Amino acid sequence: MKNTELKKLNEEFIQKTKKQNPSYFDELKKGQSPEYFLLSCSDSRVSPSIITQMPLGQLFIHRNIANQVVEEDESFSASLYFALQHLRVKQLIVKGHTGCGGVKAAWEDNEEPELQKWLAHIRKGLPEKKAGENPGLDELAKINVLKQVEKLLAHPIYKKYGRETEVTGFVFHVESGELEQVYPES
Ligand SMILES: [Zn+2]
Repeated sequence: MKNTELKKLNEEFIQKTKKQNPSYFDELKKGQSPEYFLLSCSDSRVSPSIITQMPLGQLFIHRNIANQVVEEDESFSASLYFALQHLRVKQLIVKGHTGCGGVKAAWEDNEEPELQKWLAHIRKGLPEKKAGENPGLDELAKINVLKQVEKLLAHPIYKKYGRETEVTGFVFHVESGELEQVYPES
């Protein structure tokens, strides 16, 4: 997709939106008051806004490869702090997905030097490899989400500013479109 295509699609978006609601952008510029903070994988198939049909202004989103909660990650920490302290979001969501390339690379011991620091974070959340045990990628995606939920609940910013804000973990199934809740177990 060339830049001109992006521009064209954006113009279509503006026209369509204004047709439905002529004052849409006047409302939008007044500010944001999102209900949710959402951590998602960067994978192009799992766009949180598209799969939940959430309108602009509802989701405050942080994305990285394999939806990792890393305490030393300044970008994530700033997003989490801003969402809790300034936006006062009502819910925190960790959303992983089936067929995650980041989880796969970490599990299969990818050796590309440029990826190693990040893969090391992902690996910490995966089970130890044992002979005879071979969890599938989809099981590992679920384990990864549960681990990141655990890390979020233990994150210093959550502990200080979280005020017991609800935390939910989901696995998005790219093969069916289903958003499966894995934490808390329903
Ligand atoms: Zn992924």
